[in-house]
Amino acid sequence: MLLTKRIELHLLRVGRCRHPEWVTLSGGRWAAIDFPALAALLLHPTAGPILYDTGYAERFWPATTPFPERIYRWITPVHLPEEERLATQLGRLGIALGDVRKVLISHLHADHVAGLRDLPGAGFLALRGDVLACLGRTGWQALRRGFLPALLPPDFPARLALVDERPVVDLGPSWAPFESGYDLLGDGSLVGIPLPGHSPAQLGVLLRTTDGRPVLLAADSCWSARAWREGRMPSIVARPLFADWGDYRRTLAGLRQLADRQPELAIIPSHCAETLASFDPHRPAPPEAASPGPSPPSPLSHTHSHPPGRGGIDLASIEPLGGGTPLPGGGSACGRGDGGEGPGEAASPGGPG
Ligand SMILES: [Zn+2]
Repeated sequence: MLLTKRIELHLLRVGRCRHPEWVTLSGGRWAAIDFPALAALLLHPTAGPILYDTGYAERFWPATTPFPERIYRWITPVHLPEEERLATQLGRLGIALGDVRKVLISHLHADHVAGLRDLPGAGFLALRGDVLACLGRTGWQALRRGFLPALLPPDFPARLALVDERPVVDLGPSWAPFESGYDLLGDGSLVGIPLPGHSPAQLGVLLRTTDGRPVLLAADSCWSARAWREGRMPSIVARPLFADWGDYRRTLAGLRQLADRQPELAIIPSHCAETLASFDPHRPAPPEAASPGPSPPSPLSHTHSHPPGRGGIDLASIEPLGGGTPLPGGGSACGRGDGGEGPGEAASPGGPG
């Protein structure tokens, strides 16, 4: 059954930028707003500490010292005070960086993966489309996708498993238009939902908190609660930052539809200061939401191992970071398949998200 296990959820603001509101939200004010970077800590009852993204890290600065990567730093001046660092915040909860077992990567933009090298004990999960769009690219090719290769550990391909290889689960019509997802851990507790548009694929994660609240960690599928509530796109000037503007529009509309169907669902964008400040994981869920599923959940017997028509990729065939020979052990986590080029062109350097 889906979402029957309860997850202790902590939302961590790990660094931030400031951007004019009108860039992030069409019709927004000229004033600059806080643009926090979310890392969500998921304490699973048996799988240990899991992160959804890492936020920023000290490694952002050396990664953006050379040119052209330095442009990223110029466009998005990052603030990461000591008290917001991942190690500091995990430490307050009695967790060391080395204790983190897994990172669910929403997408490979720098503000979501800057801390990966600080997590030596973690395996990584990401969607194929985002991996193919970024991995192996360097310099301008990487930068225009919002990707800084120096942020990934050298053994990233060996530690990566593709979400697309996980069992597909049917969510049922009450979750429309998101009718299926990926069972990330195999126990129905964390369901990966593709939220394409901002990046080629982008991973959202559905879970249920210890107090019974259903939550969708929504990454950059919307930049604020107002965006999904009011159906407001970012400014057109932000369009070059997106992999596919049309997909983004459809995903944003889908979030609104889902919120209408599931009013108890907490939608958590990665960069919404209002949401991060107001979300209380310990607020009891409404009675109907405290049941095992907001709709009759689909049994995992409805799973199949791969969505139709999708093959695996051979990560060993992906060039290692900076070019050269493939990394030893690369690609161990994934099957073989089409290995095709990533879809579309993705983000320009910097900017929100
Ligand atoms: Zn992004």
